[in-house]
Amino acid sequence: MKADAREKLYEGKAKIVYATDRPGTVIQYFKDDATAFNALKRGTILGKGVVNNRMSAALFERLGKAGVPTHYLGTLSDREMLCRRLDIIKIETIVRNVVAGSLAKRTGLEEGTAIRQPIVELYYKSDPLGDPMLNEDHVRMLGLARPPELAWMRRTALRVNAVLRPFLARRGLLLVDFKLEFGRAGRRLYLGDEISPDTCRLWDAATRKKLDKDRFRRDLGGVEEAYQEVYRRVLGPSGRA
Ligand code: UDP
Repeated sequence: MKADAREKLYEGKAKIVYATDRPGTVIQYFKDDATAFNALKRGTILGKGVVNNRMSAALFERLGKAGVPTHYLGTLSDREMLCRRLDIIKIETIVRNVVAGSLAKRTGLEEGTAIRQPIVELYYKSDPLGDPMLNEDHVRMLGLARPPELAWMRRTALRVNAVLRPFLARRGLLLVDFKLEFGRAGRRLYLGDEISPDTCRLWDAATRKKLDKDRFRRDLGGVEEAYQEVYRRVLGPSGRA
């Protein structure tokens, strides 16, 4: 089926979601478009869609083997992933191992400060509100997730960290922090969305050079090169993790 012939269910900043002929599944198409600061800054990162698709696939496969249920069903092409169709929960779950970004701003701690015990934060996935931080009481008040769902999301987010942090460390990458999205399919919860340099902070383990979207957000230059470097380290020269 041609890409433009199928039904577009949703178009976001970095991805398009298409319907498929198979009920309960969708295709995530990864674009090169990049946005930051609630879409106030826009640009293109050449080849980003391929990196994010392939890297997410490799990490979802790894997480699946570790017992984390993900929406990943298969890779269709360089930019297309077949996924289980989820009803996305409007919460961004963030895990942090090292102080950076908004946590540095909020606490006054210097970027790069180690966090002894990884922390989990919740944000309301709402563009008009600018993704404000929430606590569990806010989540309950807004009816975004039931308490047992939220408990499972927190546990799973820390499990994802426990799997990905050493996996990336073996590839010379420090997993500073990352954002996860979860969704429902039937009565079950799954990890959805993507795990990529768009949604993670990744630093070179030796030099602490930023190899993620902060190069775009902060105009540091070498954006495409950083994404390609992460791709090489995660997927290896063969393109397979
Ligand atoms: N993040 C994301 N989408 C968002 C907000 C944050 O993918 O809408 C990721 C971001 O790339 C980083 C982590 O979540 O890896 C923590 O981001 P932070 O709260 O520091 O926000 P920032 O200051 O980067 O906006």
